[in-house]
Amino acid sequence: MCDSYLAKKTLTGKLVGDSVLPLDDSPDTWRYMLGQVKLLPPCTPSKVVAVGLNYRDHAEELGLALPEEPLLFLKPPSSVIGPGETILAPPQSKRVDYEAELAVVISRTAQQVTAEKAADYILGYTCLNDVTARDLQSKDGQWTRAKGFDTFCPIGPWIETDLDPSDLEISLYLNDELKQRSRTSNLIFDPFRLVEFVSHVMTLTPGDVIATGTTSGIGPMRPGDKVEVRIEGIGSLFNFVEARTP
Ligand code: MG
Repeated sequence: MCDSYLAKKTLTGKLVGDSVLPLDDSPDTWRYMLGQVKLLPPCTPSKVVAVGLNYRDHAEELGLALPEEPLLFLKPPSSVIGPGETILAPPQSKRVDYEAELAVVISRTAQQVTAEKAADYILGYTCLNDVTARDLQSKDGQWTRAKGFDTFCPIGPWIETDLDPSDLEISLYLNDELKQRSRTSNLIFDPFRLVEFVSHVMTLTPGDVIATGTTSGIGPMRPGDKVEVRIEGIGSLFNFVEARTP
């Protein structure tokens, strides 16, 4: 989804090379260069379903047993921002962390879908930063506040619809310094198992997002920082951090 600076309107487009082709009823020849548009969040989820500990290497690093089933929590739609937008660190928290994650975007209503059929319900994949107020996460027990502040769910830059998610490099850079790096082959529950598990709990609707969990190397961000999630085969999602005024 993008805002064209020229037309000053919001439209949905398909990215082909560096060109954005509108998917509405614009003339077939109408296209924009990527640099001419402002990218918005690539979907408008009714919910973002996130998964706790889900990387083998992260579990081993923490000395934790592998979970028997995914631990789910929700991030509200109001936390979603797009690429290039600003993460606002709230005054209630002294420590706001990044978490690089592969995000699954749902294409059609999914209820009690098996892992074998899950691909039919996945539109594609994108990058997600599961921003977390770490101090409030441990203080509250329940994670709603720590994970749910406005701007705490950057998603983008677009949805890659033709991608095998089984073995992709995922990394996070803070001010261009590498902080997290792993491969999706280390996921304990892969995207298809997650669609199965989540859709047996709640109905997933088009545009809903499943955040598949983060790997080792999580750490804090501070006002003035630039944070970037990179996933092989998708691209780069970067955002800036500023302090939210009370
Ligand atoms: Mg996470």
